[in-house]
Parts: sequence; C-alpha cells; structure tokens
Amino acid sequence: MRLRFGGRLAISFLFLLALFLLIQSYLIHSLKKPFLLSSFVGVLIVLPVAYLIFRFMTQPIRVITELANRIASGNGTKGLPLHREDELGRLAKAIDEMRLQLQRKIEEISEEKDYLQALLGGIMEGVLVIDAKGRIVMVNQALRQLLSLPPGIEMRTPIEVIRNAELEETLQRVVQSGKGATLELVLPSAQEKTFEVNVVGIPSSPAETGKEDETRRGAIALFHDITRLKELEKIRQDFVANVSHELRTPLTTIKGYAETLLEGALKEEVAYQFVQVIKKHSDRLEKIVQDLLMLSKIESRQFRLQMEPLSVLDLVNSALSFLREAIDKKMMTVSVEHIPPALQVCGDQKYLEQVLINLLDNAVKYGRDGGKIFVSANQKGQEEVEISVKDDGIGIPKEDLSRIFERFYRVDKGRSNELGGTGLGLSIVKHIVQAHGGRVWAESQPGQGSTFYVTLPLHFPS
Ligand code: ADP
Repeated sequence: MRLRFGGRLAISFLFLLALFLLIQSYLIHSLKKPFLLSSFVGVLIVLPVAYLIFRFMTQPIRVITELANRIASGNGTKGLPLHREDELGRLAKAIDEMRLQLQRKIEEISEEKDYLQALLGGIMEGVLVIDAKGRIVMVNQALRQLLSLPPGIEMRTPIEVIRNAELEETLQRVVQSGKGATLELVLPSAQEKTFEVNVVGIPSSPAETGKEDETRRGAIALFHDITRLKELEKIRQDFVANVSHELRTPLTTIKGYAETLLEGALKEEVAYQFVQVIKKHSDRLEKIVQDLLMLSKIESRQFRLQMEPLSVLDLVNSALSFLREAIDKKMMTVSVEHIPPALQVCGDQKYLEQVLINLLDNAVKYGRDGGKIFVSANQKGQEEVEISVKDDGIGIPKEDLSRIFERFYRVDKGRSNELGGTGLGLSIVKHIVQAHGGRVWAESQPGQGSTFYVTLPLHFPS
C-alpha cells in the first residue's frame, strides 16, 4: 500500500521522536549522563537525520518547482522525471499536463502567426495594423517597400513614420467610431505615389468586452497603389480633350462656310472657294479620324501583326513611290544608301510601310525645298536591323525631342497644320515599331536637320 505525503510526514516525525527518546534514555540510564546533556546530544544526533529525511521528502517538490520555473521562462519542453502515486505525483502529473497543453497552444499560436505572416507577405497591397492606442502593431513587406519604411517601427505612431495628418486622423476616427473609411493620399515620401487607403476597425472579441463592437482593438489600413491608374485616367482625359480640340477647328470652319453658302452665298462667285475650303477641312477631319482609328487599332487587344520576311529595300522603295509626288513638288532628292539587297526584317508589310511613309513624309514636310533625304539600313548586332531617315530641314529643338512621339505633340502647331499634319504620325510609328519589338528615337540639330532611327527584328534566311 502506498502512503500519502501527509502519512509519510507523520511517520517521519514519529520516527525522529522515537530516535531522540531512545538516544536520550540510553545516555541517561546506561551512561548515567545528566538529563540536559542527554537531551542536547539527542537533538544533535537527530538533527542531521531530520535534515536528510526532509531533503528526501521534499525532493519531488523541488523537481516540480524547477519544472514550474522552466514553464514560466518558456523553456518547458521536457517532461518530469517523477513517477509517484501520492499527491505530489498527481500534482507533478497535473503540472506536466498543463505544460503539454501550453506547449500545444504555443505551437498553434505560432503556426497561426506564421500563416498570417505568409498571408500578409503574399498580399501585393500594403497592410498597416494599429492597436487601440494608435500605435503600429504590424506592417507587411509590401507597405515597407511602397513607403520605404525603416525597420523597427512597431509601437510608433503612423504620423511619426508615414507623416500624413489625414491618415492619422482617419485611423483614430475609425478606432473610435468603428466605421470604415476610404481616403486618397498622395505621399511625397513614396515618390509622389497616389494611394487609395481603406481603413476598417478591428472589433474586440466578445470574450474581452462581453459585447461585440463596443470597443475596438485597433484598425487595419489597406494601401492600394493607384498611381498608374491615375496616370492612365489623366492620359485618357488629356486625349479626349486633345481630340475634341483637334476636331473642333475643322468642324467649326466647315459649319461656318456651309451656313454662309446656305444663307445665299451659294449663288455668288465665292461659292467655289468656299466649297474648296470645306473640302480641305473635311480632308483634314478624315485624316485625323484615320490616324486615330489606326492608333486605336494598334492599341487594341485584338491587334495581331502578320509577320513575314520582308526586304528592307522593297519597303523603302514602296514608301518612296507613295510620296513621289510630294518629293518632286519640293524638288527634293532622296538617296537610298547602304541598304544590302538581301537585308530582311521580320514584320508586317502594311504597318512597316506605314512607318516608313510617316518618317519620309515628315522628312519631306519639314525638309528644305530642294533639300536632301538620306535613307539607310544596316544589320545591328545579331538580331536587329537599324533603319534611319535623315533630312537637312528645320530640325527639332532639344527640349522637344523626347516629346515628339506623344499623341498630338507638335513643335510648331501652326506649321504642322499648314502642312496637313495631325500630330499623330510619330505616335503611330512608335506604336507599330514597339509592337514589332523594336525601338524608335530621333537626333536633331535645329536648323540643320533631323535623323530618325528605327530598329526592327532581323530575319535570318534559312
Ligand atoms: P505631324 O502630323 O505634326 O507631322 P508627327 O507626329 O509626325 O505629327 O510629328 C510630331 C512633330 O514632330 C511635328 O509636328 C514636328 O514638329 C516634329 N517633327 C517630326 N518629324 C520632323 C522632322 N523630320 N523634322 C523636324 N521636325 C519634325
């Protein structure tokens, strides 16, 4: 039968008492020593024995205490080396069970934390979490990169780190009211990026407050980078404004002349001139609409090039024959230089002819009367062909060079209109060349002429 701890304690006490009395009576009766001396010697002998028994009996408590300390310091991975059936054994078992439960909970929590971290890390949007006091609890990797946040910003306030009063105010309002909010921010710290920020409150769990939604544990802010969207929106708005503006002039002119004709001028001599003006502006309208349609076609998702091997020389000659009349009218000479007859590109004939027509048309339009145009083409590297169109005309100022490929951008609008330009020719060139995987750029000396370069994929004869 196993004794309980209390029983063992009582037996030990009785044993020590009996030992003491035995020693004392032996000393008094057998050795005839005085009572006080006998008692003193009895105590002296019993004390170390009592100490040893005490050590032996409290050893399990020390083991349990050590385990409890280990658990408290977060180091409770090992079990107890105690196998007893008494109260101490059961206490040890209970503590060990508690240790296992705790360990399981800690594992669960750290697994959840890892999962959450992985989830937040995988989100492309920036995430910021603050607590009820408005201090940063967590930011994900995306937000760190978007806003170039330094490490160790936890427990600081968003205003200290992101430096935006509107954001700070919104976060506080959401924590207090619990009502979500959306705001648009331009953050200078993030290279003038524009963000749409959705902020929602984190409700306290019912276990914490008794009532859901009464107080909040903090708020989450989701940062969507809408810079590109804003840019596209601006481009679209500018484009619509530009198209409307471009169409208005010829339309107003056509309407004005048509009304004058209707009001009686039809029978007068000037009628013929009026109709000619109407015709000229209708042609201009038609050209703008054609160029716009071409651009929208190239930009559409369905746009597909019919790729085939094409002789560069044939492409150049075909474009030149299309412009022959205009070239002769300005008494210009065109020299086609250094184009090996066997040089071929891989491309769509219709669109590549359009590229050369647009470049040569500009060289004629902005070239001098009686001036010279040089067209050349060479293989560049292993995979490219570089074609250049050079004129000795008015040239392009340095500050305009990077913008001439934009839609409707013209260095001299009056001159371009006068020459029948729409401001879309180079934009079309750029889009077609890029659709072929090539590049286009220009070099120019104002007053001396310009050279336009195009690269296209080389066709290797098989
Ligand atoms: P446009 O229909 O006005 O010619 P483009 O898109 O073809 O439109 O060209 C844009 C602008 O670039 C022109 O208005 C002109 O100012 C300038 N440009 C283009 N080609 C030349 C060139 N060869 N010489 C001088 N300026 C040029």
